[in-house]
Amino acid sequence: MPTNTKPVITNLGAEEAAAIVQEWHDHPDTITTPSGCWIAKRTSADYKKIHCQELNGNVSQYQLHVIAWAAANNKDPPTGMDISHLCHENYCFFSGHLVAESSTLNNRRKRCYGSRYCPLHKNIVVHLCDHNPRCVISKATDKCSCHVI
Ligand SMILES: [Zn+2]
Ligand SMILES: [Zn+2]
Ligand SMILES: [Zn+2]
Repeated sequence: MPTNTKPVITNLGAEEAAAIVQEWHDHPDTITTPSGCWIAKRTSADYKKIHCQELNGNVSQYQLHVIAWAAANNKDPPTGMDISHLCHENYCFFSGHLVAESSTLNNRRKRCYGSRYCPLHKNIVVHLCDHNPRCVISKATDKCSCHVI
């Protein structure tokens, strides 16, 4: 799904972008999952959208994960690129799970089996994802399966 990649740093400034991410990270409704996602409270069907005041005084809608990518990389999202979720969690705004890539690559991630990990030893047993960089979704196997590697 294409994301609305506005020039975040140009429009909001690097400091404001970083402050917004910090504010949402500290928000009482934001949850951190065991896989490292920062999940904002769901308010629409697709992405977390917030209204921000731009440096020129206008107020405009931005997607939180796009702000998070821009703040972490200290640059505007590349024109025509999506900000993809390696974790497949649309509402996640942890920058380590975000990557700028084409919508073709982004869409390819929709069909991904992720990886399987041993619940006992926490080892990744097998990577079934062939995307680059790899998706971070992982599912536990029923029992220890470390012996298969
Ligand atoms: Zn995530
Ligand atoms: Zn994948
Ligand atoms: Zn094991």
